[in-house]
Amino acid sequence: MTQLSPGVVTGEDYKALVAAAKAGGYALPAVNVTGTNTLNAVIEAAAQAKSDVIVQLSNGGAQFYAGQGMPDGFQAKVLGAVAAAQHAHLLAKHYGICVVMHTDHANKKLIPWVEAMLDEGEKFYEKNGKPLFSSHMLDLSEETIDFNLGECARILGRMAKMGMSLEIELGVTGGEEDGVGSDVDESADNSKLYTQPEDVLQAYDKLTPIGHFSVAASFGNVHGVYKPGNVKLRPEILKNSQALVEERHGTGHNPLNLVFHGGSGSEKEKISEAVGYGVFKMNIDTDTQFAFSQPIGAFVEENPKAFKYQIDPENGTPYKKLYDPRKYLRAAETGIVTRLQEAFDDLGSNGKSLAV
Ligand SMILES: [Zn+2]
Repeated sequence: MTQLSPGVVTGEDYKALVAAAKAGGYALPAVNVTGTNTLNAVIEAAAQAKSDVIVQLSNGGAQFYAGQGMPDGFQAKVLGAVAAAQHAHLLAKHYGICVVMHTDHANKKLIPWVEAMLDEGEKFYEKNGKPLFSSHMLDLSEETIDFNLGECARILGRMAKMGMSLEIELGVTGGEEDGVGSDVDESADNSKLYTQPEDVLQAYDKLTPIGHFSVAASFGNVHGVYKPGNVKLRPEILKNSQALVEERHGTGHNPLNLVFHGGSGSEKEKISEAVGYGVFKMNIDTDTQFAFSQPIGAFVEENPKAFKYQIDPENGTPYKKLYDPRKYLRAAETGIVTRLQEAFDDLGSNGKSLAV
């Protein structure tokens, strides 16, 4: 059985983590974070479930991490991501589980963001002998497949030198994630929402000789949570892509590392089915945003005066202990910890941490 050191996993350890999840028939939640509260809560949740976990930042999440008030927004997107990764390198190992550090969707106009993070990553690698991030994502699914795979090959070439992995996207995940997304008609018969297995084979042929990569394939998944019936998940698309690569290249079972975007609000049976077809990572953002905010709403509702007065104007009660931000932010963190236990259960990663 694979055993790894706790903390941020990169390089060969990251590859072993992905392989172990697929072989073990489970997947890891990939949770978007926007600051230390959400990041710490995700790691705490994983430690409680004895599961490994993937932490990721969108470009907007990274900017927020650096501070929304930082004058240069682009610089904030780069440095915020670096700060989050350094935070995880310092603290994650003390929680006793493995943490993958990843960045989320980067479309064509965000290629410079990924390249700037790689500039920082190369400096970190030179100094520490390991990558700053485990992986990055390039989402060029709205471009032509030739442009998409050409850029992925170029960026992966740079990342592979450090043992990093690249997540690519083929087909279009509906909805939008932090300003990156599409205007496709989100109805179940829209073929753009379903990845073509031939495109996946083309990606496999082009990228396998260069380095480690994963594919966010679209099988009707949509970002955000919508009313039931709007989206029809068809995990068999994942199965067909795996089968095509396996047949053409005579590989073992489930040769591709697949990623499930838009996991929030999905039916449990479809999640298990997708994991059976080689999904090792399921993104969750919308559900944990609500899990973080909901307890704050409840706290304010229960203690309305503490959010209006430092001292009660009628009876003189001091409210310091209630308006201390730690009070409601801790409630919010606990909301994430609780919500994620359900995700670890759904994905079968409970008790499967490889950290020793
Ligand atoms: Zn996504």
